[in-house]
Amino acid sequence: YSANIQQLPPDPMFGLKARYVKDTRENKVDLGIGAYRDDNGKPWILPSVKLAENLILNSKDYNHEYLPINGLPEFTSSAAKVILGNDSKAITEDRLISTQTLSGTGALHVAGLFIREYFKSNDQSDNTLPLIYMSNPTWANHFQLFELLGFKTATYPYWNSNSKSLDLDGFLNSIKNAPKGSVFVLHATAHNPTGLDPTTDQWKQILNLISENNHLPLFDSAYQGFSSGSLEKDAWAVREGVNNNNYKFPGILICQSFAKNVGMYGERIGAVHVVLNEHNSILNNAVKSHLAKIIRSEISNPPGYGAKIVAKILNTPEIYSQWEKDLITMSSRINRMRQELVSELQRLQTPGTWNHITEQQGMFSFTGLNPEQVSKLENDHGIYLLGSGRASVAGLNPSNVKYVAQSIDKVVRE
Ligand code: PMP
Repeated sequence: YSANIQQLPPDPMFGLKARYVKDTRENKVDLGIGAYRDDNGKPWILPSVKLAENLILNSKDYNHEYLPINGLPEFTSSAAKVILGNDSKAITEDRLISTQTLSGTGALHVAGLFIREYFKSNDQSDNTLPLIYMSNPTWANHFQLFELLGFKTATYPYWNSNSKSLDLDGFLNSIKNAPKGSVFVLHATAHNPTGLDPTTDQWKQILNLISENNHLPLFDSAYQGFSSGSLEKDAWAVREGVNNNNYKFPGILICQSFAKNVGMYGERIGAVHVVLNEHNSILNNAVKSHLAKIIRSEISNPPGYGAKIVAKILNTPEIYSQWEKDLITMSSRINRMRQELVSELQRLQTPGTWNHITEQQGMFSFTGLNPEQVSKLENDHGIYLLGSGRASVAGLNPSNVKYVAQSIDKVVRE
């Protein structure tokens, strides 16, 4: 075997983290990984999570037994309501099949396996797999995740680097020109890496064309609550796709992560939801059994601890209200940092325009800095962000935001 195995380069994100950790400069700043930090630059355990943990740890039936194959039912059913809304027709008409997964990445992986085995669109008489379309740019892991499953991937234009805004025409053209029955991966909110989301009107145009061309929409929802602070607003596109009967999709897949919005990154809590067009109990049961087969063969059954905590948050009204406050705490702190960064850049009269940083939303900003500027920031100033110019705004805080702005100012002028 050995002759065929060659070492791969380190994962860009985790490689960046390793360089940051090794850096001995005291004023170093980590704007790499998408994990929330508080005003002191520290990981934050949400008060709602602490409340739920206390209830669980003190309950007399607390244990570490296996969960069912499809996960904790109280978790999957309430998770579906978070993304779809309590009175979603997909739920009331029993057209929804959900299974618990290893966070958002696991949800995408299960969705990919499900598509590979069972999604054969009407337009595909042969057995070729559908093309998976992703935004350009997208979360880098999307490519290897689907390619490792044997899919061919393609991209649709998304970010116009000149105008620093959405390339809507390019996006719509790709949808029109893609082979019918392709899969379109859509970032439900807080697009990673650009922080740029379509407007509601743009979403309607996008979803309309996906429907007209018989493509399968796959929503990747990893940041619900991070864009606006409101779970409802951040689920707008998903709910539009599911609830508006004008669209005739072959089905809808939703990959949901709770890593960021409950701040339990390492506990791997997520779900995949399959939305069918109509209620059909035979098909419902069939889909459920196939999802169960995938989970059983891959992980046997999903992890329990985080799912119990999230289920407790979602099913206890007082803790749910605390969670809503926690989301506002996180999203508004990030927005404050966007504003402080931009106002400092403007005060310094740093060449270029910077208001796109405050117009973007969610955890990230696509700063527009080029790879050379990014590497100067790292080498000369100890500020770490991805080569694409993506900064995790959560890494900014009142103690480092001015230093970051001054360093950006320097590298832009060099
Ligand atoms: N999708 C996107 C767009 C993401 O940014 C992330 C997290 N970086 C994920 C999915 C999955 O994350 P996790 O597996 O930690 O839930």
